[in-house]
Amino acid sequence: MATMTFREEVTDLLQRLIRLDTVNPPGNETLAAELLREHLAESGVEVELYAKVPERANLVARIPGRGDGPRLLLLSHTDTVLADAAEWQVDPWSGELREGEIWGRGALDMKGQVAANAVAIGSLAREGFEPSGDLIFAATADEEVGEDFGLSWLCREHPDAVRAEYCVNEGAGDRIDFGGGRIFYLCSAAEKMSSPFRLTVHGRSGHASMPGIADNALVKAASLIVRLAELRPEPRLEPEVGAFLRLLAGREVSADEALEVARGIHPLAAELVEPLLSLTVSPTIVSASQKRNVIPALCALIVDCRLLPGETQAEAERLLRETLGSADYDFEWLEGQGGTRSPLETPLWEAIEGFVGAEEQEARVAPLCLAGFTDSHYLREAFGTVAYGFFPMRTMDPEVAARLIHSADERIAVEDLELGVRFLRHVARQIGG
Ligand SMILES: [Zn+2]
Repeated sequence: MATMTFREEVTDLLQRLIRLDTVNPPGNETLAAELLREHLAESGVEVELYAKVPERANLVARIPGRGDGPRLLLLSHTDTVLADAAEWQVDPWSGELREGEIWGRGALDMKGQVAANAVAIGSLAREGFEPSGDLIFAATADEEVGEDFGLSWLCREHPDAVRAEYCVNEGAGDRIDFGGGRIFYLCSAAEKMSSPFRLTVHGRSGHASMPGIADNALVKAASLIVRLAELRPEPRLEPEVGAFLRLLAGREVSADEALEVARGIHPLAAELVEPLLSLTVSPTIVSASQKRNVIPALCALIVDCRLLPGETQAEAERLLRETLGSADYDFEWLEGQGGTRSPLETPLWEAIEGFVGAEEQEARVAPLCLAGFTDSHYLREAFGTVAYGFFPMRTMDPEVAARLIHSADERIAVEDLELGVRFLRHVARQIGG
C-alpha cells in the first residue's frame, strides 16, 4: 500500500467493496466490515466491529485524539439497494473500471464514500496524524431499510463508539453551475421528515351488481386522493433554503416568490427548491376489495408525506384534515423519521468552504435541505452532532449522477473519488488540527 497513490488505493478498495454483495435485505454487511478491517489494519488504525447479529456488523475505526478537542465522525453505510443485472451494461457487482469510472451497485450510494473515508483515515494514521479529538470512521449496516441494525442501534447500544461533535455524511456535495458565474457545491445541513400516513375510508359493502344498496369506500377514497393531489400549502422559507436563494439571487428572497426566482435562475434550482417550500403528499398505495364482485366497506390509502424540518405532525394533521374535509375516514401516522437540522455557522462549515475555495476559487458552498433523509438525524438527536451531507463531486454531471443512484449503471468517476479523499483529509486536519 505504501507504494500506492491515494487514487490507486481508493480505486482498488472501492472495486473490492462493490464485488461484495451487500444488497439490503438481507445486507450481509459483515463482508464489507471484514474487508475494511483488514485494509485499515495495514495502516495501524484501531478498529472495532459492533454487530447486533453476526452477519450485519458495523465497523468503527478511530485515531484517538491527543486531547479533548472536537471529535469528527466520517460516517458511511455499506449496504446497498438491489440491482437487476438485466438492466445493466455491466455486472452490477463487477467493480469494472471503464474510461475513468468505476461501475457497480453502491458506487455512488455509497461505497465510494466508504472507500474514501477508509483511505483518508488510513493515510492520516500512516503519516502519524494526531488529532486534538478523536477522528472516527464508521461504516454502518442497514441504512437503506433501517430496521435497527445500523446507526440507530449503535447510538443506543454503543453511544461512546460514535459520539462526535462533527460528522460528515452522505447527502450532497455536487458541483452545480447555475450560469452567470454562479458555481456552487451543495452541502446538506437539514432534512425533511419522512412522515407517511394511512387513511382508512369507511363505506358499506354490498354486491357489486347493485351499487345503489352499498356505499363504495374505494369511490369515496378517490375524491380524497384528488383533494390531496391538489393540496398547495402556503410556502415557507426554511433557513437553508433562504440562504441558498440569497446566494443564488444575490438578494433576500421571500417565500412567496421563492419558486419563481429559482425558475428564473435555472430549472435545476427550481427542481431543488420546489419540494422544500412546504410539506409534500404523494398517495402511493391503495387497497380495497379482495373480490371483483364485492363493493368494499373499507379502503386503505397509504400516503408518502414529507414535513419540513421543525414542522410537527400535529400541525400537518390539522392542514391535512382541513384539506380532506368532512368524510368518514380514520387518519393514522405511520412514522416520523428525520426532520432535523444543524446550524450553518460552524467550524465544519468553514472547513468545507475552505476546501472548496482552495480547489476552485470562483465556487461557493451553498446550504441545502434534503427532500429525503439520511442517518444524520440519529446523531443530531442522540448527541446534538453538527452533521452535514457533503462528498464533493465535480467530474460527473450532477444530473446524471442523480439518475444513477438506486438505478441501473451506477458508477463514480475516479477523479471524484480522489477529490473526496483530499476533502476528507482536509476536514480531518482542520477539525483536529
Ligand atoms: Zn445512502
